[in-house]
Amino acid sequence: MSKENTNTPAASNSSSTWAYAPAPEDTKHIRLQKQYGLFINGAFVKPNSKKYFATSSPSTEEKIAEVAEANEKDVDAAVKAARNAYNKTWKKMPAKERAKYIFRIARLMQERARELAVIESIDGGKPIRESRDIDVPLAANHFFYYAGWADKLQYAFPGKNPQPLGVAAQIIPWNFPLLMAAWKIAPALAAGNTVVLKPAETSPLTALKLAEIIQDSGLPPGVVNIITGFGKTGAAMVQHPDVNKIAFTGSTDVGKIIQKTIAGSNKKITLELGGKAANIVFEDVPIDQAVEGIVNGIFFNQGHVCCAGSRLFVQEGIADELIRKLKDRMNTLIVGNPLDKNTDIGAINSKEQLDKISSYIKIGVNEGAEIFQSACVLPKKGYFCKPTLFLHTSQSHRIVQEEIFGPVLAVQTFRTIEEVIEKANNIPYGLSAGVWTDKGSKIFNMTSKLRAGVVWANTYNKFDPSSPFGGYKESGFGREGGLHGLMPYLQ
Ligand code: ADP
Repeated sequence: MSKENTNTPAASNSSSTWAYAPAPEDTKHIRLQKQYGLFINGAFVKPNSKKYFATSSPSTEEKIAEVAEANEKDVDAAVKAARNAYNKTWKKMPAKERAKYIFRIARLMQERARELAVIESIDGGKPIRESRDIDVPLAANHFFYYAGWADKLQYAFPGKNPQPLGVAAQIIPWNFPLLMAAWKIAPALAAGNTVVLKPAETSPLTALKLAEIIQDSGLPPGVVNIITGFGKTGAAMVQHPDVNKIAFTGSTDVGKIIQKTIAGSNKKITLELGGKAANIVFEDVPIDQAVEGIVNGIFFNQGHVCCAGSRLFVQEGIADELIRKLKDRMNTLIVGNPLDKNTDIGAINSKEQLDKISSYIKIGVNEGAEIFQSACVLPKKGYFCKPTLFLHTSQSHRIVQEEIFGPVLAVQTFRTIEEVIEKANNIPYGLSAGVWTDKGSKIFNMTSKLRAGVVWANTYNKFDPSSPFGGYKESGFGREGGLHGLMPYLQ
């Protein structure tokens, strides 16, 4: 793994006020197999398909490992294992015993936090600071949080006699591989269900490490099965007749396909889909703080967040000053080796995603918006993208309406509250929004009128296991996190 550390941010960021010495995270302690089977019924097994595919590092373009490609028979084996475990073990186990397993998984994740963080950054491209400080601790916290609810469901939903659904098929994307696995698995187990989970094809490794942790936790075989593959594998999971519940996070297009597939069946479903969040900054705000929040909202994590603040609305009176400060701040962002602790922006997750982002940048230019990109020099190898700003955009621009999923921010100005609410809501999505103002009353006014599942006030991208998360409109339905996150796994 030593070749990971070639793209030093110091070298890649000529415009910083000073160059930082490289501070790459050590990779010697991580343990990865060359080839991973499918985690079915408590063991890693060879796929019936006999097929494997490579997962590579987006920051070096080097192959890291091979993972199995599950076909329909493999999916069937995983669902059967989950059903068997549900009927014979998990459903019958006293809830307080189930809670202990969930708690143990959380503890083991904490013990291996550093290894998980490094693998997340190598496989997915996100900066180590983020995987170390956000993804992994939050993932463990989700297991802790839901372990606490497992034996208290009757208090969570008094008078309702909550019962599990059965087997949950869970399909997750590449932007928060381990965290999404935790979001899905922890509430499902706490509610008494068993699980078949498929991570995304470009970032499967931390889910497979989680499978090892689950094995070590002594969780009864079959309660959690983790299988790898592409969209076809996901489709087979959705179509499987013995699945009771589908939980999907990913693109709106695939979400729609899944909904059509299960129409007429009695499978329950939650969908967490795309977003195009408005980050709204009023004139009364401390500008420097807002600039930091804007940067955090869209540029950290390469804009690979469905709730990223990808549309910026600035009130006219402060627009010039804020944009000037934002450009200055963008010029100091360090783009480069995800394993370097100085890196602010890591690699784009895959070549396909980088191509998509680049095509949107061209679209923005062709639509007539004014482009600004930070002055950083990108590493020669790997998939990297400069933080990009589009000024003078309007509601009709595609870069304003469509989800780009990259470090690209479309800026508009506004004069009145009514105008900005109208513009912010005039979009097919409704996942999240941000409001920056000194006035509490303005915050409450805005939160009641913005059609978004989450509204952050004077902060952005803050998550907590006890807070529900989810969308309106084409951003999907159902909530994850908190008590709300248990409901979709119960009848
Ligand atoms: P993204 O654009 O975020 O990669 P996708 O919706 O393409 O989102 O992928 C999210 C997850 O859905 C991945 O695990 C992917 O393999 C899976 N997937 C893709 N197509 C399908 C499908 N037709 N049915 C079920 N799952 C699918």
